[in-house]
Amino acid sequence: MAFYENDVGTLIDEAKLQERVRALGAEITRDYQGKELTLVCVLKGSTFFAMDLARHIDLPLTLEFLGVSSYQGGTETTGEVRITTDVSKPMAGKHLLIIEDIIDTGLTMSFLLENLRARHPASLKLASLLEKPARARTKIAIDYKGFVIDDVFVVGYGLDYAEKYRNVPFIGVMKGK
Ligand code: 5GP
Ligand code: MG
Ligand code: MG
Repeated sequence: MAFYENDVGTLIDEAKLQERVRALGAEITRDYQGKELTLVCVLKGSTFFAMDLARHIDLPLTLEFLGVSSYQGGTETTGEVRITTDVSKPMAGKHLLIIEDIIDTGLTMSFLLENLRARHPASLKLASLLEKPARARTKIAIDYKGFVIDDVFVVGYGLDYAEKYRNVPFIGVMKGK
């Protein structure tokens, strides 16, 4: 029995996840033909999605990682965001595709889009595995969207609960929370 089975129920299973990620990879491959792509993976939650997605993008690409910390005001982000780990190269003139795990209030992504746009990339788009529209505080256009979910707290496939459960191989919900 897996370590998480008592705590985590399934919301989106592995087969469904992989099928969707494969389709998004094919779409990105078509859209960026002839271009060199830079994936900007937002630590830590997007890493599982980003690595699976990268395998399905049939183009030359570069990986960059960006860490952000959002100040918590009660249970949600206040919109005050800080970059804790920055990308390793200048982003000017590059075709950037941000890879995020989930757009919840949208405040983190609103900050990140503005921050990266100020670095003058050739283009800037967003891929997010999940979107929780019920909690949106600002409108974020997601160019490549995995799934829209209800207002539930999810874990797995990179997403954590107090830093745990990231390695659960599907998108799950905490039981009794
Ligand atoms: P925001 O509210 O700024 O859109 O989202 C900030 C961050 O909160 C997300 O990138 C994600 O790391 C985290 N987050 C939002 N909703 C969930 C959720 O349901 N589960 C987990 N594990 N993290 C979430
Ligand atoms: Mg995130
Ligand atoms: Mg987290």
